[in-house]
Amino acid sequence: MSQTLQAVRGMNDILPDEAEIWENFEDIVRDWLRSYGYRPIRMPIVEPTPLFKRAIGEVTDIVEKEMYSFEDALNGEHLTLRPEGTASCVRAAIQHNLVAAGGPQRLYYHGPMFRHERPQKGRYRQFHQIGIEALGFAGPDIDAEHIIMCARLWDDLGLEDVSLEINSLGSAEERALHRAALITYLEQHQDRLDEDGKRRLYSNPLRILDTKNPDLQDIVEAAPKLADYLGDESREHFDAVQVLLKDAGIPYRINHRLVRGLDYYNRTVFEWVTTRLGAQGTICAGGRYDGLVSQLGGKPQPAAGFAMGVERLLALWKECGGEAERVVPDVYVVHMGDAARRLAFRAAEALRGHGFAATLHCGGGSFKSQMKKADGSGAAIALVIGEDEAAAGEVGVKPLRGHGAQQRVALDLLAETVAEVLFNEDGDEGADNGSV
Ligand code: ATP
Ligand code: MG
Repeated sequence: MSQTLQAVRGMNDILPDEAEIWENFEDIVRDWLRSYGYRPIRMPIVEPTPLFKRAIGEVTDIVEKEMYSFEDALNGEHLTLRPEGTASCVRAAIQHNLVAAGGPQRLYYHGPMFRHERPQKGRYRQFHQIGIEALGFAGPDIDAEHIIMCARLWDDLGLEDVSLEINSLGSAEERALHRAALITYLEQHQDRLDEDGKRRLYSNPLRILDTKNPDLQDIVEAAPKLADYLGDESREHFDAVQVLLKDAGIPYRINHRLVRGLDYYNRTVFEWVTTRLGAQGTICAGGRYDGLVSQLGGKPQPAAGFAMGVERLLALWKECGGEAERVVPDVYVVHMGDAARRLAFRAAEALRGHGFAATLHCGGGSFKSQMKKADGSGAAIALVIGEDEAAAGEVGVKPLRGHGAQQRVALDLLAETVAEVLFNEDGDEGADNGSV
């Protein structure tokens, strides 16, 4: 016997009960994005591998060990399943001249991302992000907008126990000064560094500050702080962001060790974290990346953005009471016999044409069992079509939730009658006093 096939490890099916929660969540998110003036953009899931190497950086976890890269068997192109959205979004903006032609852009996207990590709670190999990118904005106002808009979404969703950490990574020059001091300092503790630390000492020492290894905490705690190397402009930018956060009443903590796992960031970086999800507590992360557009071959443009992990957000949302809005049809159509079935199709289509949601019973069975299905569907009304009704070209309209009596109506009066019953349903009277 052949083995049944399974989904790829770390890549999840999202089944209907769960997917309805996702859709409810996505509706809330879409309204929220529009209320801040962000517009959708959709990029391919597969991109040329060099895009991510150039954008994210060769010496990052993502590029070193997490990318699904492969050679196109047909033409030998080097391709990668996108591990994140910023690189693709910026590539698309450059390719289509968006900023030059249309001025600064506020953009958002959502969809699956792929990283070959060890699957665990809150960490998957296919996961989903909602990302936003603001291209062509230089000032601290957009950095603050991003953080403030996150706070509003947490509020809209009723999330609890979410806190904000911010930091400034300064400019490339400031980071270079800090880097030199950091290397000198870390060299003094070289024998205590772990394997990752030794490897990164000269290639990406900033990332060592971000280590999760408990044995290294005292070393990184006492390391030179980037904050002490910031010049006036970087400091003013960071201060201005903080003033706007304070005006908005958003509490935050400055975390000097917040460096982010991608190389393209400068100046403001931030993470939203929760204590409710165990080790995978970062639900949203982002910051400014002024160098990326030119790094990818575009005319220099300042930019900033963030991405949130949908699986982690949904896990937190559910903990805080988030749920699916139950999707129920307005009517469920039961029928018996050939002529009745044909009329049932016409009746259901007529109702859909008037904007009602109709589920047509398929698969036969007794009236009794069909009525059970109608009840279980949550529909407010059953349409009942037997041989008598079919012969008369009429349809039985049976309220399932109120006290109204069943009535028989001709097909051309059906939509009106259904509207009547649905409308009266909310009152106590049922459909009895409705005029047809
Ligand atoms: P982490 O430190 O948890 O690995 P990261 O810094 O690699 O996160 P980003 O690249 O900033 O993550 O992605 C933004 C958000 O996407 C994260 O804050 C997280 O919520 C989510 N995310 C990242 N990787 C995964 C994953 N493998 N599975 C689920 N969600 C993820
Ligand atoms: Mg990661």
